[in-house]
Amino acid sequence: MKFTRRQFLRDSILAGSCLFFAPLPSFAEIIKRKDWQPGYTKLEKEGKLTQRVKQARAIFERCELCPRKCGVNRLKGEKGFCQAPARAVIYSAHPHFGEEEPITGQNGSGTIFISHCNLRCIFCQNWPIAHEGRGREVSDEEFAGMMLDLQRIGCHNINIVTPTHVMPNILGAIQIACRKGLNIPLFYNTSGYERVEILKILDGIVDIYKPDMKYSEGSLSEKYSSGARDYPEVARKAILEMHRQVGVLKSDENGFAVRGLLIRHLVMPNRIAGTEQFVKWVSENLPKNTYVNIMAQYRVEYKAYEYPELARGITVEEFLEAMDWAKKYGLINLDSKSLAIKKIYDRRRSG
Ligand code: SF4
Repeated sequence: MKFTRRQFLRDSILAGSCLFFAPLPSFAEIIKRKDWQPGYTKLEKEGKLTQRVKQARAIFERCELCPRKCGVNRLKGEKGFCQAPARAVIYSAHPHFGEEEPITGQNGSGTIFISHCNLRCIFCQNWPIAHEGRGREVSDEEFAGMMLDLQRIGCHNINIVTPTHVMPNILGAIQIACRKGLNIPLFYNTSGYERVEILKILDGIVDIYKPDMKYSEGSLSEKYSSGARDYPEVARKAILEMHRQVGVLKSDENGFAVRGLLIRHLVMPNRIAGTEQFVKWVSENLPKNTYVNIMAQYRVEYKAYEYPELARGITVEEFLEAMDWAKKYGLINLDSKSLAIKKIYDRRRSG
């Protein structure tokens, strides 16, 4: 059977919405809610959070928060590659219902979109925020207030999108919010372009890491992500450190994620994302039940129109071969939405 790209996109969206109220996955490891507390709360009770906040803040004086290592003094107004000031610029804070099932739940993920970015891909799906820096500068107190508001309206977690260049602001805000009663998991939703030394400051504070793994070849990350040739190597090391800190994804008895690692991989046209190498690497370096979301929703955005190899959506065949590779290399904890899309097309393929 021949599939059209339009049909593929429509069915992908349908599969996602069908799963919204689907039974929660039985695969995740369970932590009983009564036995769980956020990492930041534990650290605050132990009197260790203040030191981490200070340690993080000091990095702004000579910013080496990410592998770009610009060395600028952000406290004096200097700006590096990411163009971010010393205060966080926030585009939006709201419940998000399009995240993975254990994160979204019924009430949504409390998502805070940070402006600017340290990677800046030419196909960026959030380019007005990441590249143009749209948003509003906020103090750590205001940032903390947003976190508390999201908890108050029932969000299951605090999900910071593109956190790397504002890590010190996040720690400052989380301490303030913690002292005012924040008590839901903290998500670090990152491109994966992270330094291990910096991630160590977050050890015990972040509950759930959600890194991307965008490429397997340095020549491609260099071409499409602003010269970041070291991205594959850097992201692999970062993911190993994240796993060391939090382990595989664990949920509470209601299926809401409370701790662990969730890796996202966006399938791109013409095998640009290096999906086979990615799933092979996961299978050889992490537990087979590592939660992996192989995503079908690539769309042509920002400057991708200028690159013929990226100037189209992915085909059904490209998505299915990605899922087949994940199976071939023995990954057993794939995102339920991706599995549902695969099932639809497997059925049509054989019919
Ligand atoms: S966070 Fe920004 S200023 Fe700091 S090293 Fe990275 S790109 Fe440069």
